[in-house]
Amino acid sequence: MKFVTRFAPSPTGPLHLGHAFSALLASDMAAAEGGQFLLRVEDIDRSRCRTHWEEQIYDDLSWLGLSWPEPVMRQSSRLSAYEEALKALWSRGLLYPCTCNRRDIAAAAGAPQEGVPLHGPDGIIYPGTCREVSDRTGPIPHNTPLRLDIEMAARVAPDMFKSSAQRFVKKPFYEETGAGPNGETGPVTFTADELRDTIGDVVLSRRDMGTSYHLSVVLDDAAQGVTHVVRGQDLFEATRIHVLLQVLLGLPTPVYHHHKLIRDEFGKRLAKRDDARAISRYRADGVSAEQIRAMVGL
Ligand code: GLU
Ligand code: ZN
Repeated sequence: MKFVTRFAPSPTGPLHLGHAFSALLASDMAAAEGGQFLLRVEDIDRSRCRTHWEEQIYDDLSWLGLSWPEPVMRQSSRLSAYEEALKALWSRGLLYPCTCNRRDIAAAAGAPQEGVPLHGPDGIIYPGTCREVSDRTGPIPHNTPLRLDIEMAARVAPDMFKSSAQRFVKKPFYEETGAGPNGETGPVTFTADELRDTIGDVVLSRRDMGTSYHLSVVLDDAAQGVTHVVRGQDLFEATRIHVLLQVLLGLPTPVYHHHKLIRDEFGKRLAKRDDARAISRYRADGVSAEQIRAMVGL
């Protein structure tokens, strides 16, 4: 079986033990299958990305003993591919502009009669304020956030839901070889209604970015021929968005392997600001790459 996987860090801070685990696991899995390990730099958020963090990523990963083919894919050089995909979705009426801010969304979602706002992979599920009122005709608007009409998307994704009569039939959606936070593994399935209710109208193009994490990751995995996505459990919920986008855009769905998260001694998952567990800090303290492997349980 062909096995192509990748590690896709964002250069917004130092890599820590959690990143080391993810990259080493992906590379080990590729090696075990005689496959390929790729690197991708996820630098669409220009306001938070820094060149020196990107350089340190290469440096830390090499030090860990990893290697990857050059040139490395960088999302900042893929903006035209993102734009093309957005145009295709726009022309099918699947996107609509929305300029609601966080406060508008919290207010609309938390209206007293609605109860506690539901949360999805991107936070509070968008209550749909702009869905019916915003204009979907004409050329695609620039520098305006665009949301996916999830109800319509779930309806037109033909491989998943053949007709509205089958809305309640769960179909195999993608294969999970790791586990979600609640132990979800094997074939992961959803109905159209479950997708609608657990995702909501997510933003696919952000202001000043011309894309979003979800759209870019899906297009890039396909462009790099990734067959197996190995990444942290924190992205398990987002996977349903990614698979839906693959269906909408006619892209293959890889196998997903979500792995455990590395936590600190208090059980909290590591964050970018956890400088104490930065790989560079361990290196400076004389820790070896083998010791890092042991620390993350590899
Ligand atoms: N760039 C994402 C991150 O650093 C990872 C994306 C992915 O693996 O799908 O969290
Ligand atoms: Zn809105």
